[in-house]
Amino acid sequence: MSQRAVFLDRDGTMIEDVGYLDRLERLKLFPYTIDAVRLLNRAGYKVVVVTSQNGVAQGVLTEAFLGEAHAHLSHLFEAAGAKIEGYYYCPHSTHAAVDRYRTECECRKPKPGMILAAARDHALDVSQSFVVGDRWRDIEMGLAAGTRALLVETGYGRTEASRRPSNIPPVPVAGTLIEATSWILRNS
Ligand SMILES: [Mg+2]
Ligand SMILES: [Zn+2]
Repeated sequence: MSQRAVFLDRDGTMIEDVGYLDRLERLKLFPYTIDAVRLLNRAGYKVVVVTSQNGVAQGVLTEAFLGEAHAHLSHLFEAAGAKIEGYYYCPHSTHAAVDRYRTECECRKPKPGMILAAARDHALDVSQSFVVGDRWRDIEMGLAAGTRALLVETGYGRTEASRRPSNIPPVPVAGTLIEATSWILRNS
């Protein structure tokens, strides 16, 4: 059977959006995030993080720090019996301050590059998969890749929910990631 997945936006969906997360002390998981990932794992979903990291493009944080932050997150999840399959991030921007990140890439949300790369690396079936995020660009990315998608009202989500762009079809709106998880488990 092909492998289904849930692609999670990081900032504002799994952890508090603190702007540029450049120190581990500022990393704050929402209280339900580990439970949500564990429930998804148990239901047979691989969980993959897909995150835009403009801070790297702007030289505010390094890819090395990003790797540290994600290793730290993985440790927290593993200690609680939950698993993140992989982390995909876009460090690029057409307005990057750092030369090597200044490019028109295929991984910038709402483009589907990160999901397509993860699907290839982990043999995931996007048509049986979901994206959960707090911005319409997360939703657009998912729909462009062929997943279903849910918006959460944490992070920027409450504001976003009130102004859906006309080019994006309505999607379920969940209060938080744990509610989005319940919805996914009921609608699998
Ligand atoms: Mg976000
Ligand atoms: Zn990119």
